[in-house]
Amino acid sequence: MKGYAERSCGVCGGRFTPLSPHQRYCGPDCRKEADKRNIIAYRRRKRIRERDCGQQKPRFCLICGKALYGRPPNVCCCSPACSHAWQRRRMRVLASQAYVSDTDWLNCQLEKALLELKILRQNMAKPQA
Ligand SMILES: [Zn+2]
Ligand SMILES: [Zn+2]
Repeated sequence: MKGYAERSCGVCGGRFTPLSPHQRYCGPDCRKEADKRNIIAYRRRKRIRERDCGQQKPRFCLICGKALYGRPPNVCCCSPACSHAWQRRRMRVLASQAYVSDTDWLNCQLEKALLELKILRQNMAKPQA
């Protein structure tokens, strides 16, 4: 009975005879080590991706519309005051609306906020009766 061709382990580089065509490491220890390296590499890639998209995609404060440059992706307001206003609005909406998904929800809220702002401006433009 002929086994698979000898190959070198992806972690320690030692030669071994695989038991299946997918086996890339000589033993459980090297397998574990490879998993660990994959997780670290994956986290690093994910961090870089998040940072890059945070820098490249122009984002704006959800309350006043000011541009947010170089802010972490979880920051959606320009200042603590705006963030506070946003939290209040968010709580109010969460209480009255079914939760869809973060992106849908944010898009929908942004549209709503812009509409509210428009109405507010129209009201302010009107002379007091
Ligand atoms: Zn090995
Ligand atoms: Zn703001």
